[in-house]
Amino acid sequence: MAANEKRSREAWQELDKDHHLHPFTDHKSLHKKRSRIITRAEGVYIYDADGSKILDGMSGLWCVNAGYGRQELVDAATEQLKELPYYNNFFQCAHPPSIELASLLQEISPPQFKRVFFAGSGSESNDTIVRMVRTYWDLMGQPERHTIISRHNAYHGSTVAAASLGGMKPMHRQSGLPIPGIVHVDQPYWFGSDRSLSPEEFGLAAARAIEDKINEVGAGKVAAFIGEPIQGAGGVIVPPDSYWPEVQRICDKYGILLISDEVITGFGRLGEWFGADYFGTRPDFMTFAKGVTSGYLPLGGVFVSDRVADVLIEKGGEFFHGYTYSGHPVACAVAIANIRLIQRENLVERIKIDIGPYLQEKWRALGEHALVGDTRMVGLMGAFEIVRSKDPIERFDEKQGAGVAFRDLLIEDGVCMRAVGDTIICAPPFILSHSEADELIDKTIVTLDRLQKTLTA
Ligand SMILES: *Cc1c(COP(=O)(O)O)cnc(C)c1O
Repeated sequence: MAANEKRSREAWQELDKDHHLHPFTDHKSLHKKRSRIITRAEGVYIYDADGSKILDGMSGLWCVNAGYGRQELVDAATEQLKELPYYNNFFQCAHPPSIELASLLQEISPPQFKRVFFAGSGSESNDTIVRMVRTYWDLMGQPERHTIISRHNAYHGSTVAAASLGGMKPMHRQSGLPIPGIVHVDQPYWFGSDRSLSPEEFGLAAARAIEDKINEVGAGKVAAFIGEPIQGAGGVIVPPDSYWPEVQRICDKYGILLISDEVITGFGRLGEWFGADYFGTRPDFMTFAKGVTSGYLPLGGVFVSDRVADVLIEKGGEFFHGYTYSGHPVACAVAIANIRLIQRENLVERIKIDIGPYLQEKWRALGEHALVGDTRMVGLMGAFEIVRSKDPIERFDEKQGAGVAFRDLLIEDGVCMRAVGDTIICAPPFILSHSEADELIDKTIVTLDRLQKTLTA
């Protein structure tokens, strides 16, 4: 039974139901509906087992930035599999793909970064940061500095430490999280506030909540602050322009390490190589994963600034941490080919000056629809919010499930986006053409009209 065995859709659904526990899934409800089986993909389109063609408005899970079917990524993997399919980077060993990638990453990252630590995923990378941050302060003779401040509704992954860093209440409820030493403040979500402050004032207030938390915990006990430049899974929360400069000022004032979780925003999604470039922050760590390989193989890692790396190297002795697949050679080979491809096709620049502005303008115009209360998009990362009324803003009853209903109708119409409550989020591949952007928007409008009929029927 090969992975590509051809079966009927129903046969796959049956096997899936009987044997497969899915991530982030209510299985009882899945078993009633059955899974959508995706069998192949090309460009910006995925195809399901019925042959339906769906425009992938989510780049898989925010990762297939270069698009599907890129032969040079396949070739890079194939060549590396033949040459050296696996070796580790433990015990004074290294191999060319991990070395070459580390050095290439240095070229495209902000100047404070010279070194990376590899992991297999974003979650593992954030776990690595928790350990590095605490080790750093121990080595600096401040072992009481162990608390990390994060934000409600953040997503930093699913391992015990990463889920603790995250601010997802349902995740915390299920297993006694967060672990000690991780505390949370509010997210800079202006549209979700009572909107009594201007966005600028609100951004400053949201940043100053971090300072209040620092004073509550005790400035000498706070190790680091972690944030996604733009919260992704939490609903594409674009902070007001005033927010990040104020966060940077506060971190500097108290000497706190700044961690930028770039798992979604890294490698070009905002029209700059990293979210830190876009917002002008100077983080001490950047987490990466997803887009580093365009999702073709699993790889993650941590950019470690000289401020931290120099101390770990000079004073730290052995850092007792690492993963069997840290810097897996095949994943690194694909990452190198992927970054070279993004550079050669100028995809980051293209988001900044071409397809980004093109899609953003049409996205903003979705705000004219009666059901759309807010629209936001930076680079190719956007969201709109479905509301019952716009003036004053009233939301649908949560039980009505307007967001999920929209998502399900949209996929029937041939476009895949995600629903976070009644917020619809979108992050298409960087290669999206103008006509594909038109298709994405036109189908969204058709679906909004259909949703309006079902909600008012
Ligand atoms: C997806 C994601 C992670 C977790 O990455 P995995 O590879 O799924 O472990 C961490 N941070 C952010 C911002 C993410 O979007």
